[in-house]
Amino acid sequence: MAVRRDGYEVSALSFRYGQRHTVELECAASIAQHFGAQHQVVDINISQWGASALTDERIDVPTDGTPDGVIPPTYVPGRNTVFIALGLSLAEAIDAECIYLGINAVDYSGYPDCRPEYLAAYQRLADLATRSGLEGRGARLVAPLVMMTKTDIVRAALELGVPIEQTWSCYQGGEEPCGVCDSCRIRDKALIEAGHGELASRQGRARLGL
Ligand SMILES: [Zn+2]
Repeated sequence: MAVRRDGYEVSALSFRYGQRHTVELECAASIAQHFGAQHQVVDINISQWGASALTDERIDVPTDGTPDGVIPPTYVPGRNTVFIALGLSLAEAIDAECIYLGINAVDYSGYPDCRPEYLAAYQRLADLATRSGLEGRGARLVAPLVMMTKTDIVRAALELGVPIEQTWSCYQGGEEPCGVCDSCRIRDKALIEAGHGELASRQGRARLGL
């Protein structure tokens, strides 16, 4: 948990946004509890207008990979822009120094709102948009994972004592990871490359003959 490593008290924030995989919220709560961090969930149901495989039952989650250079249908319109806006509100309310984000631009670079240039632009907006920003003490947006490979993220998580088995990546709403969506494929590959194939999904291990 990079925020703790950097010496901060943690106030964790998750969103119930109409995603298929609400199990990730239970996982977030249990990991926050594991680290003794405060955690809250905000309800913001953007599945009302759907238009993403994660929030619209009429759009299938791809299970056979996504070609390079194509923004996959699991992209949720404006999601991180909405999330960070709420994070900014919380941060200003509690005088937080930083907002840590789990976004990552490597290995899975199709999403426009997971890139360093996006974050830099959002920081400018944050500095203009808040009282704390105008007073020169606005929250800094920090994305420690943004340029790391997924394999390096797995290694860092293990070093920091993150209970990987309590984390969730699968985009499907099943009871166990599907092993074939982009998120499962990338996660399983990273776990195997980091020498922890035993933590890969059951379906993924079967698919890879492990
Ligand atoms: Zn999956």
